[in-house]
Amino acid sequence: MTKAILIDTTLCTACRACQVACKQWHDLPAEKTTNLGSFQNPQDLSDRTYKLVRMTETVIENRLQWLFFPDQCRHCLDAPCLSMAVDEKAIYRDDMTGAILYTRNTRHLDPEEINVSCPYDIPRAGSDGTIAKCDFCNDRIHNGLKPACVTACPTGAMQFGDREDILSMADDRLKRVRKKYPDASLLNPDEVSVIYLVAFDPSLYSDYAVAQAHQGRGGISRTVALRKMMGPIARMMHIG
Ligand code: SF4
Ligand code: SF4
Repeated sequence: MTKAILIDTTLCTACRACQVACKQWHDLPAEKTTNLGSFQNPQDLSDRTYKLVRMTETVIENRLQWLFFPDQCRHCLDAPCLSMAVDEKAIYRDDMTGAILYTRNTRHLDPEEINVSCPYDIPRAGSDGTIAKCDFCNDRIHNGLKPACVTACPTGAMQFGDREDILSMADDRLKRVRKKYPDASLLNPDEVSVIYLVAFDPSLYSDYAVAQAHQGRGGISRTVALRKMMGPIARMMHIG
């Protein structure tokens, strides 16, 4: 049975233990950052930051709210980035865990196309052209461990397990959370392996909290448009 992670943002305190644990496990360097008046640090995901606690300060019903959103790859069940890649030596799925995995061969792919294909705006390219993102800590899972971020979370905001168990846990948590936050919801639970529970309108947490079509930083290319329209057929025909 494939695996899943539940991220209950109502329990997140933005301590960033998950962000640090992810860097530690993957031996990723720190990034030089600038203080832009927000506690979010760094400002975005990168090839060296696979997990980022996004922080938003907002007013909801006359009350100041801090919204925390530990962003990462959702490991989509039918991953658009995988369909876009056309090269299983670069992007493939581990059928046992459900992890969508990127290899060093991603340097032969177009980073803009892969980024635009992702409805959650996750993959990022490094200076050598290799595209990187969260790998679900697939090596840890195969060795009987939980993902590093889940293990590090001190509040229990993140849970890991078999998909069916996590879905049932998510439904139970949602029922409880709705007593306090009637607008609470689960984000795309039938489409992803990393399921978020949010208390308010998802768009307040992140532009890509729920799946979105997006144009990318340089606009959508003809190849991307064709692959988006034709999906698996494009893959078989090796369009692009
Ligand atoms: S969230 Fe984006 S990068 Fe992750 S599997 Fe889905 S499409 Fe691919
Ligand atoms: S599952 Fe692993 S790689 Fe993904 S965000 Fe958590 S620690 Fe990082």
